[in-house]
Amino acid sequence: MKPIYLSPPHLSGLEAQFLQEALESGWIAPLGPQVEAFEREFAEAVGAKHALALSSGTAAIHLALILAGVGPGDEVVVSTLTFAASAFPVLYLGAKPVFVDSERVSWNMDPALLADFLERRAKKGKLPKAVVLVHLYGQSADIDPIRNLCQEYGVALIEDAAEALGSTYKGKSPGVFGLAGIFSFNGNKIITTSGGGMLVSEDGGLIAHARKLATQAREPVPWYEHREVGYNYRMSNLLAALGRAQLRTLEDRVQARRAIFQRYVEALAHVPGLSFQPEAPWGRHTRWLTVMLVDEAAFGLGPEEIRRALEERGIETRPVWKPLHLQPVFRGAETLGGEVAEEFFRTGLCLPSGSSLTREEQERVIEAILRLAGL
Ligand SMILES: *Cc1c(COP(=O)(O)O)cnc(C)c1O
Repeated sequence: MKPIYLSPPHLSGLEAQFLQEALESGWIAPLGPQVEAFEREFAEAVGAKHALALSSGTAAIHLALILAGVGPGDEVVVSTLTFAASAFPVLYLGAKPVFVDSERVSWNMDPALLADFLERRAKKGKLPKAVVLVHLYGQSADIDPIRNLCQEYGVALIEDAAEALGSTYKGKSPGVFGLAGIFSFNGNKIITTSGGGMLVSEDGGLIAHARKLATQAREPVPWYEHREVGYNYRMSNLLAALGRAQLRTLEDRVQARRAIFQRYVEALAHVPGLSFQPEAPWGRHTRWLTVMLVDEAAFGLGPEEIRRALEERGIETRPVWKPLHLQPVFRGAETLGGEVAEEFFRTGLCLPSGSSLTREEQERVIEAILRLAGL
C-alpha cells in the first residue's frame, strides 16, 4: 500500500508556471525579481513591514541573533519544547541557551517562568541578550505577556514562527511582535520552497543590515570590500518563484489541515486514553501537525508502540519534539521547569497531517488506531 507521510510537500499547480517565468527571465541567481516579489508578497501576507528571503529558517534565526547583538558568553532564552534549530544558532555564536518549559494552554513558552527568571536576573544585573519564542506545531504562544517582559527588561524578542505561518495571535500573524520573526519553507512546512526561510521585521534598518550580512557582507563599493563577517544565506531566484506559487495557496492549506484535525477529533477523541493538543483562546491554530496525547494506562499502548504498529502499516507518525534540555548537545544548559515539556514528549504523537492527505488515507490512519484500541 502507498505509504502515508507525516507532512509531505503539496504542490499548488502554479509552481511550473512561476519557475518557467523565472527560468526564461535569465535570473538563475541568488537575487532577482522573484526574490523581491516573494519578499514583498510574504511581508504583506503576514503583516510585516519588511522581509528578507533566506536559504533557511535556521539562517534567519542566526542573523536575528547577530542583529540582537548576541555574542560569546551571552545568554539567550529559548523554548525547550521545539526543534533543535531554534537553539543551534545560539551555539554558533558561542552564546548559552537557557531553556524554558511550556504552559499547558498552547504548549509554548510559559510566561510565568520567564517573568520569574528575568526578575531574578535583573537583581543580579545579568540579563539575557534575547528571547527566542517558538510558536509550535502551528499555534502561537501567548505573545503579549512575553513581549511586555522583554520590553520591561530591555531584552530582544525573536519569534521562531517556522511552524506557525498562517496562524494568528489576537488577529495578527505571529512573527511581527518583536525585534524580528522567522519563518521556514523546508519541505515539511505548511508551504515550501524545498528549502528556505524568511526574516521579517518592522525595522527597515535591521533588515537592510541582515541583507548585507546574508550577501557575504559586501560593502557598497565597486571592488569586494568587507568590514564584517558575512554569510552566504540568500534565497535563490528560482526557489523564490516556488515560494510565490506556494504562498498563493496558504489559506487553502490552513483550511485543509484544520479539517484533517477535525476529522481526527471526531473519530478518535472519544477513545479512552486519547486526547489532542488544545487550541488556545488567543488565536487560530493552523494544525500544521495534529498532535495526539496518549494515556498509556487508559489506551493500553504507549505512543511508541502505536508509532511502530502504524509504521508496519506504512503510516508515518512521529514523537513530539524531544525537549532541548534533554538533548545531549545542549547538556549543562540552565533550564526553567521542564516537566510539562517532558510529559508532552513522553505521551505525544504527531499524526499524518499533510494538506494533500486524502479522506481515504486518513480513514486508513483512523482505522489502524481504532483497531489498536480494540474498537
Ligand atoms: C523547521 C524549523 C526551523 C528551521 O527551519 P529550516 O528552514 O529547516 O532551517 C526552526 N525552528 C522550528 C521550530 C522549526 O520547526
